Amino acid sequence: MQEISNFIKTIMENDLAEKRVAAIVTRFPPEPNAYLHIGHARAIITNFELAAAFNGKTNLRFDDTNPAKEGAEFVEAIKKDIEWLGYHPNNVFFGSNYFEETYNRALVLIKKGLAYVCDLSQEEIAQYRGTLTEGGKDSPYRNRSVAENLDLFERMRKGEFKDGEKVLRAKIDMQSPNINMRDPVIYRILHVSHHNTKDKWCIYPMYDFAHPLQDAIEGVTHSLCSIEFENHRPLYDWFVKECEMPHVPHQIEFGRLNITHTIMSKRYLKELVESQKVEGYDDPRLPTLHGIRRRGYTPSAIREFILDTGLSRTNSTTPYEKLDYFLREDLKLKVDRPFAVINPLKVVITNYPEGKVEYLDAPNNQENEGLGQRKISFSRNLYIEKEDFIEEMPNRKWKRLAKDVEVRLMYAYFVKCNEVIKDDEGNIIEIHCTYDPETKSGSGFDKRKPNGNIHFVDASSSLKAKFNLFEPLLLEETPENKDKSFMERFNANSWKVMDGYVENYFKDAKPLNRYQFPRIGYFCVDKKSSLDNLVFNRICELKSTITF
Ligand code: ATP
Ligand code: MG
Repeated sequence: MQEISNFIKTIMENDLAEKRVAAIVTRFPPEPNAYLHIGHARAIITNFELAAAFNGKTNLRFDDTNPAKEGAEFVEAIKKDIEWLGYHPNNVFFGSNYFEETYNRALVLIKKGLAYVCDLSQEEIAQYRGTLTEGGKDSPYRNRSVAENLDLFERMRKGEFKDGEKVLRAKIDMQSPNINMRDPVIYRILHVSHHNTKDKWCIYPMYDFAHPLQDAIEGVTHSLCSIEFENHRPLYDWFVKECEMPHVPHQIEFGRLNITHTIMSKRYLKELVESQKVEGYDDPRLPTLHGIRRRGYTPSAIREFILDTGLSRTNSTTPYEKLDYFLREDLKLKVDRPFAVINPLKVVITNYPEGKVEYLDAPNNQENEGLGQRKISFSRNLYIEKEDFIEEMPNRKWKRLAKDVEVRLMYAYFVKCNEVIKDDEGNIIEIHCTYDPETKSGSGFDKRKPNGNIHFVDASSSLKAKFNLFEPLLLEETPENKDKSFMERFNANSWKVMDGYVENYFKDAKPLNRYQFPRIGYFCVDKKSSLDNLVFNRICELKSTITF
């Protein structure tokens, strides 16, 4: 297990050592308008683990100041994801819990002559704001009296005006080189019911105003956010100071995490779900935490992956194969390795008596004896992988079965193929083999060497199963492409279904159980699986093409 270590931890150590703070308090502040993805896992893990490293606290705070897009479905999904990752917030708060206090703090600004009600339209405000190279222009409403502003703001709250008719703006500096400081809007009118406060409010604070106040109210010491908020920091500090918040939190920015061959934008995830290109927010191909969980990745693999990618102040892109690496590391010694044949070829052992079944000893995980042993059945009819048989041996590198060639069936016997049965079109439908009873696994037989070891499933006791095999959502490495839309570049082969067989070991398989299928990959029982209809998701293959 890696320990968290990054530049923010150093800042916290110094703040504690120099007594700028007495204890560490962080928060994870998702907007409940979407499902979380693995990029959010970086923010979650960073906030929770840094606070824990100093015996501090972490709040989960739903940043629900924008009623139009938010809902209870997302609140529940987000809570579930955080718990699943293994983190337990000290408190669960809603930004909307503080609407009254936020309103009162706006009154503080108005009374100090630092906020005014403005009647300009959204477009006019944008025009007046100026550009990166040119200063802005004062609003004609900028010099309204405190009394008039107090009256108008109160009437905004009472619902006397329509959406967009008026806003409350901070009065800072229309010439500031930082555009965020040019009299930003801090309250807008929205006659919309809110998932938490229902119809109590028809004015809502803007994120830039609400967020620092929420941090201050909760006693957050280090307010961690992604790097695009760097230019908002002066505004954050201005609100904390001018609203006279008794506690002063500090914003620290970090780079966002991106992953190759996938997309983490809320907008695209929504488009994929709504166009039904994917099965829903828990589609196993998606980078959502719901999708990742259903696919079978473990919280521990995600944690190690996130910590290994490190943290800096710039955005970074990490190969998705790295998550697979940590999944294998996590499961290698933890899960059983029963047999599955995902693309079956029928094998008849012609010299094995009809009706006879024997039970052979096999370790559940040959690298971890602690996982015990199981019995695998062996009889006259078996399945092997189609890929493990070729009629004519191509060369000496072929370490699998071929006509007149002998291989070991793992934990069973040597078998030799004598006859290949084909249909009228020349497709192989089954093969006939003979087995050598002397070569039983564990007997110490050493007179001949087999041409490889292959796995099999006994047809007499096997269970039918479906196997979902995945490829990345995007064939290209990065989501940016000026010429083609994301939808056009969607990998149509990203979900392939195979029909095969598994050992009857799986009669008790439950959704989310994970296994290694020797030679095929790590798999997880899908949420839709049942004994009559077993379904497995391949989490990843056993080997990577990339090394880390
Ligand atoms: P929006 O653009 O709608 O604000 P968001 O991705 O920032 O979307 P939030 O719900 O606001 O979503 O995110 C909560 C927290 O997660 C924020 O602090 C945000 O900075 C962080 N976060 C989101 N995506 C990533 C990412 N890819 N890498 C690191 N942190 C992220
Ligand atoms: Mg955000």
